Amino acid sequence: MLKLYNTLSRKKQIFKPLKKGKAGLYTCGPTVYWFAHIGNLRTYIFEDILKRVLEYSHYKVKHIMNITDVGHLTSDADTGEDKLEKGAKRERKTVWQIAEFYTKAFKQDINRLNIKPPNIWIKATDTIKDQLNLIKILEKKGFTYKISDGVYFDTSKLKTYGRLWKTKKRQDKTRARVEMVSGKKNPTDFALWKFSPKTGKRQMEWKSPWGVGFPGWHTECVVMGIKNLGIVFDIHCGGIDHISIHHTNEIAQAEAAYGKVFARYWLHGEFLILDKGKMAKSEGNIIILENLIKKGFNPLAYRYLCLGAHYRSKLCFSLNALKGAQNSLDNLYQKITELTENSSPSNSKHYENISRSVKNYQKRFLGFIQDDLNMPKALALMWQMIKDKKIPAKAKYKLLMDFDKVFGLDLSQIKKIKIPEKIQELVKQREQERKQKNYQKADEIRAEIKKQGYVIEDTKTGIKIKKISV
Ligand code: AMP
Ligand code: ZN
Repeated sequence: MLKLYNTLSRKKQIFKPLKKGKAGLYTCGPTVYWFAHIGNLRTYIFEDILKRVLEYSHYKVKHIMNITDVGHLTSDADTGEDKLEKGAKRERKTVWQIAEFYTKAFKQDINRLNIKPPNIWIKATDTIKDQLNLIKILEKKGFTYKISDGVYFDTSKLKTYGRLWKTKKRQDKTRARVEMVSGKKNPTDFALWKFSPKTGKRQMEWKSPWGVGFPGWHTECVVMGIKNLGIVFDIHCGGIDHISIHHTNEIAQAEAAYGKVFARYWLHGEFLILDKGKMAKSEGNIIILENLIKKGFNPLAYRYLCLGAHYRSKLCFSLNALKGAQNSLDNLYQKITELTENSSPSNSKHYENISRSVKNYQKRFLGFIQDDLNMPKALALMWQMIKDKKIPAKAKYKLLMDFDKVFGLDLSQIKKIKIPEKIQELVKQREQERKQKNYQKADEIRAEIKKQGYVIEDTKTGIKIKKISV
């Protein structure tokens, strides 16, 4: 029985899909004006885990992710510059080039983190017509007003406005400092359509019944979710910062237009923070995946680090923590290599006991992952199982491959890792140097091997070569 924490009800709830055996999932995608930082990537890892847990629980998942390539302003209060236009100025490129470049970079990042891509990607700029249609419906129903800078949603007209963030505490904290665009009727009102500036031309702009301009950020996700998953679908996700504004405003539009909260379960991932505080592009303390790779980390070590914290807890990032995760991952890879080498047949007399233990591990694993995605407990269980002397190597290997459907650490690749000829050649050379007692030279070759991502261990049964970075 899968239980998920629903921000809407503020409770852990049993997941009951709208259609038996199926799950519709919408995850807010990246704003493609810069590289995703590792905080953003933590949210995508959490969503990937959710998707894998759904699949492991035998749901057929239909997953939609948007690419925000227009309309996300530098301030959530509908002021500031369009992030894409800002990126274009910074790099002296067109907004279209910026969007294409950073979309590619994002797809590369999620691939390196073994995040499964969605079934459908959609760009905000490909849904302008649908967004205009939604705004027209809202206008007809009396939820909009026009001021000099755009068309706005009047939140005072919707009695239920703010149902996602409306606990007194959150309301006060997160919205106290909302800036007011002049002419806005209520501080919580938000732009549905912004007009192009009177002087100068935007690179991205479209005609509309109200004037030339571009859509506000909160409309695209409503349109794309409903278009692909139906007017009510199962799960909508994002980072925790989306609760108070982006998702609140998405819900407001769907409720006003269609009388429905358009998704039933709203899941939010907590933030990755740095020991120095928040990681945000505006704070200038951004770490991107590429930085970590350049430092010699396996991107999956970052995934492993994220698995070690529950998605609803803050995760404090440091290079030391990442080193710890890399070590654990290397250990895990090593264990798998040993398991595949050690294929001693299990004693058939103990067969029943073994099968009972295996089933027990499977049951506990399922229990943890279905308890609101408790990955830290599932990881700890995996290590307990690896150390369990009652389980033979072959069964351990099978269980690990099964668990990895959810962990996504690419464990099945380990068996396939072949030591490149170049490395094998270096190992031979080192052996020769050692035989001739040229220990200094032998150590130099060992260092070179390490530089190339492999370590060698001299064991009683001979030399072992291990890959340290996949
Ligand atoms: P953006 O590209 O700014 O729209 O953000 C992409 C996703 O990353 C959203 O779901 C955000 O809620 C999430 N996010 C932003 N900052 C962080 C952070 N420091 N830790 C975790 N998730 C974040
Ligand atoms: Zn969104």
